[in-house]
Amino acid sequence: MTRPPEDQPLTDPGSSHELAERKMRFLFALRSRGVTDSRVLTAMEMIDRGHFVRGIFADRAYEDMPLPIACGQTISQPSVVGLMTQALAVNPRDTVLEIGTGSGYQAAILSQLARRVYTVDRYRRLVREAGEVFRQLDLANITTIAADGSFGLPDQAPFDRIIVTAAAEDPPGPLLDQLKLGGIMVLPVGQSDTVQSLIKVTRTERGFDYEELRPVRFVPLVEGLGSE
Ligand code: SAH
Repeated sequence: MTRPPEDQPLTDPGSSHELAERKMRFLFALRSRGVTDSRVLTAMEMIDRGHFVRGIFADRAYEDMPLPIACGQTISQPSVVGLMTQALAVNPRDTVLEIGTGSGYQAAILSQLARRVYTVDRYRRLVREAGEVFRQLDLANITTIAADGSFGLPDQAPFDRIIVTAAAEDPPGPLLDQLKLGGIMVLPVGQSDTVQSLIKVTRTERGFDYEELRPVRFVPLVEGLGSE
């Protein structure tokens, strides 16, 4: 999405007309990049990305690009959030596990589609700040946890759906173990400094089916708790 050129009089960024137009272009951009599932689009219309981007980047919340958040992490590109959510094929009765809370944006969208969402991040600060936004928005079906998500959440397992928003070299074993039969996991795999592959793993009677979806770039899945 483009910003008005410098020499044009700036519309008040808070004006409802300007904001409504930005949000409309935001949804249009999602559709044009392949996010076509109407439930996913409705969820992304309900959850305002503006609540999840702070400080100097807040102005760019409705652009289809990743943006920096606290702790050196990023809020993912909205079209990638949409495509991952679509691939996850969430049902209204599902319990979903997300590894990599970050800003909380992805979890908030999942909260519109699932019965319950557990979201884990290795930075306590990100978990706390995302939790505050969830409370403000009254998203009562999200549980936030500060932990190393590569081990999943054995106490709450198994899950209908698992989404990982940080890249590992391979799907972590504990996460595969915590996926229900018929369950789906969507995650980026590959080394952190190169282009990774977004894959969809489905647990079947015979084991696991793997489908490669598209190239992506995510921050790495890192061991242990973060310092903040
Ligand atoms: N889903 C987020 C974007 C996530 S960025 C959003 O919607 O904004 C990736 C996140 O994964 C970062 O916040 C990072 O701290 C977290 N992360 C990396 N390794 C992790 C691990 N082992 N366990 C839990 N979280 C991890």
